[in-house]
Amino acid sequence: MTQRRSLIAGNWKMYKKCDEALKTAELLCQKVKNIDDRDIMIAPPMTALNHVAGVIKNSPIKLGAQNLHWENEGAFTGEVSANMLVSSGCKYVIIGHSERRQYFGETDETVNKKIKSSISSGLIPVICIGELEQEREEGKTFSVLDKQIKNGLKDISLDQASSIVLAYEPVWAIGTGKTATSEQAQEAHKYLRDLLTSLYNNELSEQIRILYGGSVKPANVNEIMSMPDVDGALVGGASLDPDSFASIVKYE
Ligand code: PEP
Repeated sequence: MTQRRSLIAGNWKMYKKCDEALKTAELLCQKVKNIDDRDIMIAPPMTALNHVAGVIKNSPIKLGAQNLHWENEGAFTGEVSANMLVSSGCKYVIIGHSERRQYFGETDETVNKKIKSSISSGLIPVICIGELEQEREEGKTFSVLDKQIKNGLKDISLDQASSIVLAYEPVWAIGTGKTATSEQAQEAHKYLRDLLTSLYNNELSEQIRILYGGSVKPANVNEIMSMPDVDGALVGGASLDPDSFASIVKYE
């Protein structure tokens, strides 16, 4: 079985002005400076990307953005492209977060365009998928994931798909304090891995990292990370504080 390198990613959402972002990044750098057996990513707001890039330059932390537009450039007021993110020091970009789907009209089709654009610019897309509470209650979790993955990865070749990261984020667990049980997470992750095998092949599905996201905290990260198909975490609220994010990064 392939040994996947874990990834702990922090999504700062619309929190932290530049000075606050710099301070948080500096403190985090001190706390994780000796870590080399796992990947670490933070996604500050767009306004702080370039500043934070300078702070984390010589640390194990990589930079991510929270969104992008799929065109390279153009008259798209308020948007930024993959190339612009790369020029600000980004290595990753979060795509299709449930808050973007819920509040900003993100669809599987726009997710698909954004994935293609990020891959062609050399960014690693962290693709968020997950079911609503009602969909889980109605037994639709797998069909929702199926649709999000098949539409999101439409016309993405085996070669292109090799660079993606998936983040399973049950919407009912985001920012709510409700965490999926480790069994629920494992069940969904296994479903996603089998789906990747059917869409691509076993080698690729064994190689792709699938993160869990939804109220991950220092107190529950070890249990979630002990699941065989959980390869990391996408952390919202608990990534804002350097102490709590550093202890999540240092899960055992
Ligand atoms: C997220 O924003 O992706 C997330 C998982 O948030 P939280 O950890 O706060 O639930």
